[in-house]
Amino acid sequence: VTGLARTLATYARTRWLQRRLISRADIEMRQRLLFERFADRVLSRSPWYMPFAGKPLAAYPVIGKAIALDAFDRMNTRGLHRDTLMRQAQKAEASRDFSGLASEFSVGLSSGTSGERGLFVASARERATYAGILLAKALPRSLFHAERVALLFRANNPLYEAAGGSARLSFGFYDLSKPFGHLLTELDAYRPTILIGPPQALLWVAQSQSAGRIRIAPRKIIAGGEVLEADVAHAIGSTFDRAIDQIYQATEGFLGLTCAHNTLHLNEDYLIVEREWIDRKTGRFMPIVTDLMRETQPTVRYRLDDILIERASPCPCGSPLLAINRIEGRADDALLLAVPDGRKLVPVMPDFVRDALGMLALGEYRVVQHDPKDIEVSLTGAATPAAPHVAAALIAVFAHAGAAVPTIRFRETAPADLTRKFRRVERRFPAPAGFEWSAS
Ligand SMILES: [Zn+2]
Repeated sequence: VTGLARTLATYARTRWLQRRLISRADIEMRQRLLFERFADRVLSRSPWYMPFAGKPLAAYPVIGKAIALDAFDRMNTRGLHRDTLMRQAQKAEASRDFSGLASEFSVGLSSGTSGERGLFVASARERATYAGILLAKALPRSLFHAERVALLFRANNPLYEAAGGSARLSFGFYDLSKPFGHLLTELDAYRPTILIGPPQALLWVAQSQSAGRIRIAPRKIIAGGEVLEADVAHAIGSTFDRAIDQIYQATEGFLGLTCAHNTLHLNEDYLIVEREWIDRKTGRFMPIVTDLMRETQPTVRYRLDDILIERASPCPCGSPLLAINRIEGRADDALLLAVPDGRKLVPVMPDFVRDALGMLALGEYRVVQHDPKDIEVSLTGAATPAAPHVAAALIAVFAHAGAAVPTIRFRETAPADLTRKFRRVERRFPAPAGFEWSAS
């Protein structure tokens, strides 16, 4: 079976499933059957997972990046070696030449400010499957309409350079590390019908469109790779006069997509998602993901670092797939502040900071925490007069969390670097070992 044939078959199957899976019971039944098959065909070939043969999913250990990296050589089903792949991926990233990787196995590294980077590998077969799922969920019309899909990307993602192309469907890849002016010219000539990229890059494209430098008319715009904030979504959406969809896609896999009601639905037709609760009342949890489609590097009860907020009521679209109000950001980016007597740290979620500062209309800004008592705020020149208001807003948020007032320093911001993951709120020191998020 060729890659394109697999992609088209998966596309058709996913579309069919969308009509067929209408209740939670349908989803759970499918997951049970898929897990049995997955354990039988995939996990049985992984030396690390062999001891769990025949056991229910709940008997498998919950793992994170550290274990996945440590046990990589024994976990994967193809005898691949971590160190070799890691060297290859780093070399490709440094040279921006990903062509050598796009053969049988492609490799992606997760970004990380604290700790080691995660390593993810997918086979050509898996990439074709993922492309089919993505197309079925993302394409506004059927595959029988011609689509030109422009992907703006920062780093290689093992699931992205798939699908090839046909007369009806083509993919254009735009490397954000290249000069932006050149990229705009190419994008303008390509006239994409679908535009996919990180929010900051989409914002730059929108600003270029407003300034008359390009004239494109994408029918669908999908943001992914980092948190899409309301003001950014609005700026992009009003330029192109359409709503912005959001794809939840990490190096770890393709996890979900927003529906017409702007609710993010997780891909429970292909994944099992368990919730590690941070706060049940507000619906905050960290997802533990079992990906029933992965074959090369099994993803079983893998805990992502993201904090998601579950939607309290069913989505009006009627989808039975788990509904998420928003992705709050990475737990790794939650600020950790000392309490007044200094005996422990309390977390302050990134979106609390973003909500408090969002009202001040600062434009581009960043809040970076270097240690429990030191916060650095970068503002653009035009926003510097607002510094006292920023300090007051932050102090109110920290006080509400029960934290002592840290030192708040201000600096003027440098322009955003599109090749780096853009995070407005970022913590640059690791959480203490065994830190309990749910204790807040
Ligand atoms: Zn929905």
